[in-house]
Amino acid sequence: MAGKPKDTTTTTDLLGRALSDLRISVTDRCNFRCRYCMPKEVFGSAYHFLPRAEILTFEEITRVAQSFAALGARKLRLTGGEPLVRRDLEHLVASLAAIPGIEDIAMTTNGSLLTATKARALKEAGLGRITVSLDSLDDDVFKSMNDVGFPVARVLDAIAAAQEAGLTPVKVNMVVKRGINQASIVPMAAHFRDAGVILRFIEYMDVGNSNGWQLTDVVSAKEILDTVGSEWPLEPIAPTRPGEVARRYRFLDGKGEIGIIASVTQPFCGGCSRARLSAEGLLYTCLFGTSGHDLRTVLRDPKADIDLTAYLRSIWARRSDRYSELRTAQTTPVPKVEMSHIGG
Ligand code: SAM
Ligand code: SF4
Ligand code: SF4
Repeated sequence: MAGKPKDTTTTTDLLGRALSDLRISVTDRCNFRCRYCMPKEVFGSAYHFLPRAEILTFEEITRVAQSFAALGARKLRLTGGEPLVRRDLEHLVASLAAIPGIEDIAMTTNGSLLTATKARALKEAGLGRITVSLDSLDDDVFKSMNDVGFPVARVLDAIAAAQEAGLTPVKVNMVVKRGINQASIVPMAAHFRDAGVILRFIEYMDVGNSNGWQLTDVVSAKEILDTVGSEWPLEPIAPTRPGEVARRYRFLDGKGEIGIIASVTQPFCGGCSRARLSAEGLLYTCLFGTSGHDLRTVLRDPKADIDLTAYLRSIWARRSDRYSELRTAQTTPVPKVEMSHIGG
């Protein structure tokens, strides 16, 4: 990665949280229709995805990332939609890797388009790590969850391709939904603890407005931990940095670790250091935001003589989001941005 940025001022929000991560959604499109994210009934053939002209170009994304780096962001994560449906993504990775101050570039993908060649190209361009989403090792369960009949074996091939390319440590994200894939918790842990992969269980979240979320569908972090811990004893690992979202646990027999992302039952807004850029250039300061700041208009207005870094600093400085901490006190539903739009 390139050296230090010129203007390194730590930027904190109204709750004293520093900015350290930028998540970049490179597309709102996806070739899966996971029922908890893009249910077919909503994201069907009549759904209007963003036309190409409305999506930020690689140059525009890079410009935004440069300004974030100047404000203290050190980590970038590419997401979507499915990031690999965007062509030539390695070109974007190469531009981002050249930004002074950026220390880590990662990607979250469903793995369906991650061939060995693509994995190597991404690594060579400067991608450091990859997270692949996989909700079960049972083909019937997984096919029903992704709702396009995509088989488990091809995602396992993608994970192997990522490992071979050195995009390590590879992480696997498993969203746990009650009555749907709870029985897959132990087989997933058994498989990945032997494979050098860090499995992260994610509590099913109420992102967006289309997945019909109910609290009763959530399998809590405690239940997940008890389920895995009753098979293999675990001990907690201290966080390595502030703002770490996954609670980490080590297998006492030395076979690796798991993580649990408990954003419903154990919210972590207090350390939330992430900004999120949607594919069309809306900047969100919370995963559960109702509206974003329109950076695309700013970037494309030839008359706008704006200091982007100062503008982003002013947005972060006014931030007070803590949706997950307030969720349980919420009595009326609020409209929220969709997960496929903002990228998780
Ligand atoms: N398409 C890519 C993928 O699935 O990895 C990247 C985008 S996806 C929105 C990012 C992550 O969000 C995935 O790991 C996915 O499982 C997770 N996710 C989506 N909807 C969720 C929900 N309702 N609750 C918890 N996690 C969710
Ligand atoms: Fe697509 Fe990822 Fe959402 Fe599944 S979770 S529908 S793969 S964006
Ligand atoms: Fe951050 Fe918002 Fe999630 Fe809280 S609810 S951890 S502020 S993204």
